[in-house]
Amino acid sequence: KRFEDLNLSAELLKGLYIEMKFEKPSKIQAISLPMILTPPHKNLIAQAHNGSGKTTCFVLGMLSRVDPTLKAPQALCICPTRELAIQNLEVLLKMGKFTGITSELGIPADSSSYIPVNKMPPITAQVIIGTPGTLKKWMTAKKLRLNQMKILVFDEADHMLGQSGFRDDSVAIMRNIKDANYNCQVLLFSATFDDSVKQFVSRIVEDIFVRDY
Ligand code: AMP
Repeated sequence: KRFEDLNLSAELLKGLYIEMKFEKPSKIQAISLPMILTPPHKNLIAQAHNGSGKTTCFVLGMLSRVDPTLKAPQALCICPTRELAIQNLEVLLKMGKFTGITSELGIPADSSSYIPVNKMPPITAQVIIGTPGTLKKWMTAKKLRLNQMKILVFDEADHMLGQSGFRDDSVAIMRNIKDANYNCQVLLFSATFDDSVKQFVSRIVEDIFVRDY
């Protein structure tokens, strides 16, 4: 398989070849991208380890599903740590360089740039990547509109859903998004599937399970 066979835009192919310098899809990308990118955009639960190329799967998923002419949040990626959120945003910026799609980081602000959430302007970025607590806070304060949300990603779900605070926020975020737009696609990536992940996955109906090997 080649990236050209995956129905990606010319802008994304340019990002993959020129910015990322990728030559062809990895195994998990070749398996999951057709399911992520083509209707009916089913939910996907993937057992994928670091190094398998999973980040590209959901970054391409988010960048492909976003309508660049619609200035509203359309894709959300939830990560267990600030560092991972920053890292994923950097990949998105690089891969999406030619798309014009806007993005925002949703992690706790440090004291120098702290603004109380009620003083914050509403989020207009098209893709938001962050940690559960901050994203939940933005949603509760109605700064993050959900009615245009098309794709929700859980990265390293095992590292996130095993911690009760993170799990509660993740459940709340998913419930809010499904209430606002039931057809929102959910992608969940996890290296392992312990009980907390299995229990969470059982909330996502009609899912497809894939693994990198
Ligand atoms: P990930 O599992 O997403 O953290 O990716 C692991 C590493 O593989 C990263 O350094 C990626 O840049 C690289 N990578 C992902 N997909 C490809 C690909 N199709 N071709 C070459 N390298 C890739």
